[in-house]
Amino acid sequence: MYEMCVGPETKTGAPVWHVVERHRGNSLCGADLSGAPRSAGTETDRHCLPCMARFQECLEASNGGRVN
Ligand SMILES: [Zn+2]
Repeated sequence: MYEMCVGPETKTGAPVWHVVERHRGNSLCGADLSGAPRSAGTETDRHCLPCMARFQECLEASNGGRVN
Protein backbone atom coordinates (compact mmCIF):
# COMPACT_ATOMS: atom_id res chain seq x y z
CA MET A 1 0.00 0.00 0.00
CA TYR A 2 1.06 3.52 -0.73
CA GLU A 3 -0.03 6.75 0.81
CA MET A 4 0.57 10.39 0.09
CA CYS A 5 2.45 12.45 2.61
CA VAL A 6 3.40 16.11 2.53
CA GLY A 7 7.06 16.71 3.16
CA PRO A 8 9.86 18.96 2.04
CA GLU A 9 11.18 18.58 -1.47
CA THR A 10 14.78 17.43 -1.24
CA LYS A 11 16.18 20.20 -3.41
CA THR A 12 14.08 23.20 -2.49
CA GLY A 13 12.58 22.31 0.87
CA ALA A 14 9.18 23.40 -0.42
CA PRO A 15 6.26 21.24 0.71
CA VAL A 16 5.25 18.64 -1.85
CA TRP A 17 3.25 15.43 -1.84
CA HIS A 18 5.51 12.42 -1.57
CA VAL A 19 4.48 8.83 -2.15
CA VAL A 20 5.24 6.74 0.94
CA GLU A 21 5.36 2.97 1.16
CA ARG A 22 3.26 2.36 4.22
CA HIS A 23 4.94 -0.88 5.27
CA ARG A 24 8.41 0.61 5.02
CA GLY A 25 7.72 4.20 5.95
CA ASN A 26 10.06 5.46 3.27
CA SER A 27 9.22 7.89 0.53
CA LEU A 28 9.90 6.54 -2.94
CA CYS A 29 12.38 9.33 -3.68
CA GLY A 30 14.32 8.65 -0.50
CA ALA A 31 13.44 11.94 1.17
CA ASP A 32 13.48 11.77 4.95
CA LEU A 33 9.95 12.52 6.09
CA SER A 34 10.48 11.53 9.70
CA GLY A 35 10.62 15.14 10.81
CA ALA A 36 7.98 16.39 8.43
CA PRO A 37 4.60 17.49 9.69
CA ARG A 38 1.79 15.13 8.82
CA SER A 39 -0.50 16.17 6.04
CA ALA A 40 -3.09 17.66 8.36
CA GLY A 41 -3.12 21.39 7.99
CA THR A 42 -0.50 21.43 5.25
CA GLU A 43 -1.74 22.68 1.93
CA THR A 44 0.07 22.13 -1.32
CA ASP A 45 -0.90 21.11 -4.82
CA ARG A 46 2.61 20.20 -5.84
CA HIS A 47 3.84 16.64 -6.15
CA CYS A 48 7.32 15.23 -5.74
CA LEU A 49 8.38 14.39 -9.29
CA PRO A 50 10.87 11.62 -8.34
CA CYS A 51 8.17 10.00 -6.23
CA MET A 52 5.67 10.20 -9.07
CA ALA A 53 8.15 8.63 -11.48
CA ARG A 54 8.99 5.80 -9.09
CA PHE A 55 5.33 5.27 -8.27
CA GLN A 56 4.54 4.90 -11.97
CA GLU A 57 7.32 2.32 -12.29
CA CYS A 58 5.96 0.41 -9.31
CA LEU A 59 2.46 0.37 -10.77
CA GLU A 60 3.77 -0.91 -14.08
CA ALA A 61 5.86 -3.56 -12.33
CA SER A 62 2.84 -4.74 -10.34
CA ASN A 63 0.94 -5.10 -13.61
CA GLY A 64 3.48 -7.61 -14.86
CA GLY A 65 5.49 -4.99 -16.66
CA ARG A 66 2.75 -4.14 -19.10
CA VAL A 67 2.07 -0.54 -19.93
CA ASN A 68 -1.37 0.45 -21.04
ZN1 LIG B 1 9.35 12.29 -2.90
